[in-house]
Amino acid sequence: MRLGTLEAGGTKMVLSIGNEQNELLEQLTLPTETPEVTIPAMLAWFLERKIDALGIGTFGPVDLNPASPTYGWITSTPKLAWQQAALLPILRDGLRVPAKIDTDVNAAALAEWKLGAARGLNSCMYVTIGTGVGAGLVVEGRLVHGLLHPELGHMLLRPESGDPSPKGFCPFHESCLEGLASGPAMEKRWGKKAFDLPPDHEAWDLEADYLAQMCMNALCAFSPEKIILGGGVMQQKHLFPRIREKTRVRLNGYIRHPRILNGLEDLITEPGLGTRSGALGALLLAREALEERA
Ligand code: ADP
Ligand code: ZN
Repeated sequence: MRLGTLEAGGTKMVLSIGNEQNELLEQLTLPTETPEVTIPAMLAWFLERKIDALGIGTFGPVDLNPASPTYGWITSTPKLAWQQAALLPILRDGLRVPAKIDTDVNAAALAEWKLGAARGLNSCMYVTIGTGVGAGLVVEGRLVHGLLHPELGHMLLRPESGDPSPKGFCPFHESCLEGLASGPAMEKRWGKKAFDLPPDHEAWDLEADYLAQMCMNALCAFSPEKIILGGGVMQQKHLFPRIREKTRVRLNGYIRHPRILNGLEDLITEPGLGTRSGALGALLLAREALEERA
């Protein structure tokens, strides 16, 4: 069985071929240009490899309602060339294989739930803190879609005192999570790449404050059994203990569960699948697409 996976991002497309043993065997990375350029290149690569099904984890917003005439279309993205791009239908019809799509972060949450840090649980949240901030959510054993899909990156936060840029940098909202805490937001605030800010720089304490606000909001709103933090910014491992401690302090003893009172050590964690959550999530979507057809 050859399962095609696509991680569709605003800057790059990562394609791979996997199997039913959840092994990823071969990979190709393409820059995200216009749909007219990039989609035919992806089609050609998958066609050559004769895949049996395709799973897609994509940037969004994307229409995920299977009953909608624009199912699998990118909708209102700031990447203008991709607005109203029929990503799923073009690939599915071009390859003539069953295909399934979800957000990149829902795909990652699916993989962490089935194969990674949240294995055996009924709920989890996967948050990426990178070029953007987004979250995928499993609640009561199901990926959450709802009206469109969660957009947790744009939850409003309370600006911290001492933040030189308390309004953040989101073009849509003042003081939303992505605008305050994404990698590019850190770079704009401090005039340096996040990568180049030393661990004792005040930037990281502020970053942990905002991510702790997000964790508190998520724990209060969805009660996830695991919050998995990934993405480029979370390569700074010193953030984890700070975020746990700040979340505990903010909750202030209100949720009296031992996993919170004992320091959130196994509640707020790194991905169990490293940087492969997204691709393995797309692989699981491809398998679901096959099973749903059968
Ligand atoms: P993307 O979100 O585009 O898929 P990443 O998750 O790698 O990609 O996020 C890229 C962002 O993460 C950039 O803003 C970059 O500055 C930041 N970043 C990447 N690696 C690190 C690192 N080791 N430490 C801090 N920030 C990083
Ligand atoms: Zn926003």
